[in-house]
Amino acid sequence: MFKWVKFLDSDYFPAGADSVRKLPKTSTPSRWLPFLFLHLACLSVLFTGVSVAAVVMAVTLCVARMFAITAFYHRYFSHKSYKTSRFAQFIFALAGLTAVQRGPLWWAAHHRHHHQHADDEHDTHSPVQRGFVWAHIGWITADANMPTDYSRIPDLVKYPELVLLNRFDWIVPILLAFAIYGCGEYLHYAEPGWHTSGLQFLSWGFVSTVMVFHVTGAINSLAHQFGTQEFETGDSSKNNFLLGVITLGEGWHNNHHRYPGCVRQGLEWWQIDLTYYILLVMEKLGIIWDLNKIPNTVPAKEVLARSAS
Ligand SMILES: [Zn+2]
Ligand SMILES: [Zn+2]
Repeated sequence: MFKWVKFLDSDYFPAGADSVRKLPKTSTPSRWLPFLFLHLACLSVLFTGVSVAAVVMAVTLCVARMFAITAFYHRYFSHKSYKTSRFAQFIFALAGLTAVQRGPLWWAAHHRHHHQHADDEHDTHSPVQRGFVWAHIGWITADANMPTDYSRIPDLVKYPELVLLNRFDWIVPILLAFAIYGCGEYLHYAEPGWHTSGLQFLSWGFVSTVMVFHVTGAINSLAHQFGTQEFETGDSSKNNFLLGVITLGEGWHNNHHRYPGCVRQGLEWWQIDLTYYILLVMEKLGIIWDLNKIPNTVPAKEVLARSAS
């Protein structure tokens, strides 16, 4: 199985993915270019203008893609905190790919590594070890972090459709860009009073993508620095109310490091966890099942204390 997967990667990493992974974990200047392009592309709104339709599209896409990252890339592919069908799993991968954060296997493999080494010297994106900028964005510009470590995700590599989506992770974002442009252009002619266009939609699509990127990155950078620590997890993960709201529940990061397999990250009623509430609806609809609602590592007396309070 791993043989054909590695063959698939061979043109991407001619020197071999294993040797690339062993390179020094330092930033490669040319890898900043895509991020520079994405941020500069946001400035195009100065030329294409603004409309209610474009802003509504940008915010909707931002929230929907943030949900795809937290509910699918994180709580499903990385932690398997619930079960679903193979078809839904494929759809979840497509949804996550629209966020332009590389493939589901790459994301999950790196994230599992993060939990194993949270804030120790091997952690890929610890702000404690290497500072805010590295944790937020720098680590993604290192050649060494580009390959997918398939050995960490044997449960996902057995699905060829996921491996292919992961390898050709640029296809879905390109299709999304065309779809956004097409919608804007359609509205330009169908609803001239809305004062929008394909290019304006595209500009705001870039803004939306950059917002999703920074909100996700904030979990690696800010949620390992600012907030409170309810559980002694041996790392610097924090619970942060503001991040909990804007990341759809991911800001309860100390809870999550304490109970990584639990589908809930907000453990108290006031710890708002929008992703969890939507997953409960998906469970009612029969799309997902076997949600790990009780933290599976909770000591028995802690469970009793929680249910009694
Ligand atoms: Zn973390
Ligand atoms: Zn996690």
